[in-house]
Amino acid sequence: MQNYPIFMNLQDQDCLVVGAGPVALRKMRLMLSAGANITVIAPDMCDDMHAEFNGKVTYLARKFEDSDIDSYRLITAATNFPKVNERVSRLAQEKNIPVNVVDQPELCSFITPSIIDRSPVLVAISTGGGAPVLARNLRSKLEAFIPASYGKLASAMNSCRDKLKIAVPEERDRRIFWDKVVQGTIAENFFSGRETKGEILLHQAIEDAAKTGSAQNLVGEVWLIGAGPGDPDLLTFRALRLMQQADVVLYDRLVSDEILNLTRRDADRIYVGKKRADHAVPQGEINQLLVDLALEGKSVVRLKGGDPFIFGRGGEEIELLAESGVPFQIVPGITAASGCATYAGIPLTHRDHAQSCTLVTGHLKDGSVDLNWADLSMPNQTVVIYMGLVGLPTICQKLMEHGVSKDMPIALIQQGTTRNQKVYTGTLSTMVEKIKGQEVQAPTLIIVGSVVSLQDQLSWFDPTVE
Ligand code: SAH
Repeated sequence: MQNYPIFMNLQDQDCLVVGAGPVALRKMRLMLSAGANITVIAPDMCDDMHAEFNGKVTYLARKFEDSDIDSYRLITAATNFPKVNERVSRLAQEKNIPVNVVDQPELCSFITPSIIDRSPVLVAISTGGGAPVLARNLRSKLEAFIPASYGKLASAMNSCRDKLKIAVPEERDRRIFWDKVVQGTIAENFFSGRETKGEILLHQAIEDAAKTGSAQNLVGEVWLIGAGPGDPDLLTFRALRLMQQADVVLYDRLVSDEILNLTRRDADRIYVGKKRADHAVPQGEINQLLVDLALEGKSVVRLKGGDPFIFGRGGEEIELLAESGVPFQIVPGITAASGCATYAGIPLTHRDHAQSCTLVTGHLKDGSVDLNWADLSMPNQTVVIYMGLVGLPTICQKLMEHGVSKDMPIALIQQGTTRNQKVYTGTLSTMVEKIKGQEVQAPTLIIVGSVVSLQDQLSWFDPTVE
């Protein structure tokens, strides 16, 4: 290890900054938020620093002098003059005062990391001063995974430590308790902005634990997650975070292996998939299974293709949970209409073509296609049909019967957003013939409307080209 990592307490400590340009400004922001008393020495102060720090720091408007190196806790040099920076560094090191010279690691006795601030949680990343861009890159990746309210959870945990020590005397049991807190419902309440509820549950959990002296009683939670149309990159941050905490995952046919592989490695996977009219597990059983697993204290992920509330029966699954008092969260996903249209280069609305967009299902419970054809035949709209492949001939026929031109463009998007995406375009009168013998595979989405004519021009995603 090249450097020894520490976090330094600068509360009310005198610190010196030599230089008053934008680089010094960035350093000062952090020092000030850590409570430092800052003295700045520089002949001129940049306007931004003046606006931000006027009155909050001691400013000496002059050149640096050797005698300025006094009993400071920390010194930072950020001038444009290498000789001045070097002098500051040498004099500080002679007096054993930690010194940082911006962008000159060889003159530093300490370096400042890239940070993710979720105070009191602070994540610091260093590349030894040699590759700050790499550190920033890593930081932005971590930023995305550490919810903004991480700090609030840390503070709440901190304030309960003594209470838990009395409730659960064994350290090992306390560790299990905290693990469950961090990976379960309580933490999730904090992460999704429901801190008050999170705190209530935390105190409740400690009281429950006090009764048994262990961490057995935490309730589980169900997370109904929209997994998007197929491309794993289209998952939301929250979806991914919850997937990585799951004890059990219930998934169906629309969820690809690539996405499933992003769930926690040792989570149990239960396939409850549905093929058209061939329900692997009846809906009622799925609903009950979700409740039972959560009551066992498990974190249950229910993964659904697209968005759970768009032709996903998410509402039905949640109803029983709500009735049974099982806590749950719903994570929206990118629905097929949005994902497939975008990846096919078909804008769903367009000022010159469509002022509205209607999403309908082409598959009714009894197997027929019985839609409000008059509405769907109105001009200036885009109609997106889910589960419509089998009913395609009826759909084209009915739209034409209700006055839509036989030349109206129509697109079929097979396995949209995935490597197997295939887009077929034609018109209402040609499409059925066109796909005969083509083995179009589910899932397939149908888009009807003049926006489809823009596809030639706007198409950008071609999975066959690597
Ligand atoms: N809840 C899902 C829809 C479930 S209904 C969502 O919001 O997307 C299943 C139908 O969605 C399929 O029959 C198909 O019409 C459509 N679909 C889902 N994913 C698709 C994909 N990747 N490509 C094309 N169509 C898709």
